[in-house]
Order: sequence, then structure tokens, then C-alpha cells
Amino acid sequence: MSADLASQLSLDHGGKILLAIMDGIGDIPIPQFGGLTPLEKANTPNMDKLTSDGALGQHLPVARGITPGSGPGHLAVFGYDPVKFLVGRGALAALGIGFQLQHGDLAARINFCTLGENKVILDRRAGRISTELCTELVESLKGITIPGVEIFVEPVKEHRACVIFRSKGLSDSIHDTDPGLVGELPLGVIATAKGAEFTVGVVEDFISQSSEILRGKVPANGLLLRGFALHEEMPTLTDRFKLNPAAVALYPMYRGVASLAGMEQYDSVPADLSGEVKAAKKAVMDGKDFVFLHHKYTDSSGEDGDYERKVREIEKFDNAIPGLLECGFDVICITGDHSTPCPMKLHSWHPVPVLIYGGPQRAGWSARFTEREASVGALGTFHGHELMALLLAAAGRLAKFGA
Ligand code: ZN
Repeated sequence: MSADLASQLSLDHGGKILLAIMDGIGDIPIPQFGGLTPLEKANTPNMDKLTSDGALGQHLPVARGITPGSGPGHLAVFGYDPVKFLVGRGALAALGIGFQLQHGDLAARINFCTLGENKVILDRRAGRISTELCTELVESLKGITIPGVEIFVEPVKEHRACVIFRSKGLSDSIHDTDPGLVGELPLGVIATAKGAEFTVGVVEDFISQSSEILRGKVPANGLLLRGFALHEEMPTLTDRFKLNPAAVALYPMYRGVASLAGMEQYDSVPADLSGEVKAAKKAVMDGKDFVFLHHKYTDSSGEDGDYERKVREIEKFDNAIPGLLECGFDVICITGDHSTPCPMKLHSWHPVPVLIYGGPQRAGWSARFTEREASVGALGTFHGHELMALLLAAAGRLAKFGA
């Protein structure tokens, strides 16, 4: 609701906005670390300063009690209601490597895997083969042809690749062929709704031709398909909020979701936080007025249950803040796309702390950027897709509603 209204009221001028995402930042208190969350434990003098000069709150990426994937979590903070705008992982993977998806394309993620005798899955990631080997395998699959269907196979990273089918009448009501477990057979191609019969045939043909090509290869002699997604174009941040947006992200999935929202990609050189800060600065110098910057490793450490590493990743991000302050942003927002509590080793439904610095704020209400302080901060608790309105307002990019 507020994003739609913000779209109607948005102005084509105003301040420059940085949206910095520490992926999976939210956590829960952990008894063996003094009942503190990683954000509470971390030494974060720079974020503390932004907090006392700015305002805190917390967002619900989807809704209370709902655990989001990273795709919906990001779409929400970009101002899209993630329940209305559904995007499958396959499409994100393809967009993330810069593939130009067309309306109606069907994309799926490929995992190269190791199959034993009688086709049982021994390793769902084929020992995380190198990206070079992945690229070689993908080349060998490029010979696959299916009448009436254009097929594109592209490498992503390590054991991950993606396939795009282009034809009329494709459906994404197709179940993953990855059973998610070793010791099982890959699943058959199963339609999850009527009208997917043609697609089932296409995918079965692709899998059978690829099994012939991969037969006898070591260690990747099979593939699993996941995240079937039909590509539908979405209105961009330019269409919706009159922004000229850029993205700085190291991982394909986040580059994918950013390109869906119409953000131009800026490469991080070197591929770390210092490179990301440089890329953000370049984007501002190029006239971009909205920059999304993604820090992945708070999420990976949470998923590994590694509390101390998550603390270090937060501190690393904190060290990057002086550089971000020099880029020339008028509004800086630091938040996450969801919570990834270390004791759970999974994404969770817990609200995500939000810090907004810049523009007129009810400043001075909070002292540290933590879950505890964010839960009673001046911004309150709101839906993730309402964040964009708060950022646009802080940057002076929203007109008054009514006379
Ligand atoms: Zn995430």
C-alpha cells in the first residue's frame, strides 16, 4: 500500500540513497555469548554513531511468522510486495549472470551432481567442482537440441549452472528434480498443475540427452534441476519511484534480483567490501541516485551457525562505513533481507533491524544498531516493502499527499 502511494507521489529529484544490506543480519540472543546477539556483541563504533544521529526500527520482510528466501527479502526492501511479485530462483540465477531473459522464458537452476551405479545420488554438488570444469560441462550440453525450443545453458559458479528454455506455452509448474537428499534417485519431471504437459516433455528430453552426454564423466555425471521459473517483466525502480538505480553485489543471485528491479550493475574491484565501496562511489559519480550494496557473509556465517564469524563480518562491514560516508549519499540505510539466527542455521521469520541515517529523523532515541534497540526505535515496526517510502521521504523525493 505505502509503496504504491509512494510510487504515485515520487519526484524525479532529491537526495541520493544508499541501501546497504547485510544479508541475514537479524539474530537471536545466545546464552553462551552472554545472551547477546552478534550485532550486540560486535564492536561497531561507526554504526553506533549513525544510530545516534539517525533512527532505528525493524521490518517484517513478508509478514509475521513468515520465513522469506533471499529473493522475496530483497524485493521487499526494494519496495515490491513480495507476495504480489513472485520470482523463482531459476530466473534470478539467469539474470544474475547477465542473461537477457525474455518474457515467457522458462529458467531453472542446474546442480551438477555425482550419481552412483543405479543412478543414486552420491553428492548433490559433485564435490563442488571448479567453475572451469562447470564451464566445460556446460559447453558439452550446448549440443542438446529439442525441436521447437531454443535452449541456452550457462555456467554460474562451481557446481551451479542454469538452463533457459525459450518457446511458446512453457509452464513453471514443474517440481524440482532434486530430492534434496543423497542416497536417493533424482526425482522424475513432475507437473504441479495442469497445462504443463508440453513442458514436462521438454524437460524430460533435456535430462535424457544430458545424461547421455555426462555419462562416465568424473565427478559430475548427472544433473539436478531446481527452481523452475517463468520470466515475467516487472516495473523497475525507475518506473515506480523515478530513481536511477545501481547495484553492487558479488553474488549472481543478488545481481539477478537487482537487475529485475532495473538496477545497473557496478562491478566490485577487488571483489570484497573495499571494492564494493569503490563501486558505490563510482555509481554516485555517474549520477546514480539509488545504490544497493550487498554484504553476503553475515548470512553465510549465520547459516553455518558460526557466531564469532558473524560478529567479525559485522565488524568488517562497520569498518567500511567511513568509506561509504565519503561517497556523497544523503540518506544511508543499513538493514537486512531477513534474519539468519546462528542457533537455527537457517533463515527465520524474526523482524530485521533497520537504521536510517540522513534527512530529518527523530534522532537521539537509540544508541546502538541492535535487534533489541531496533524493536523500540523511532521508526517502529513495518513491512519490508514500506521501507522504500521511508527512504524516499528522508531523501525529499516524495510529494505531499492531497492539498
Ligand atoms: Zn538473504
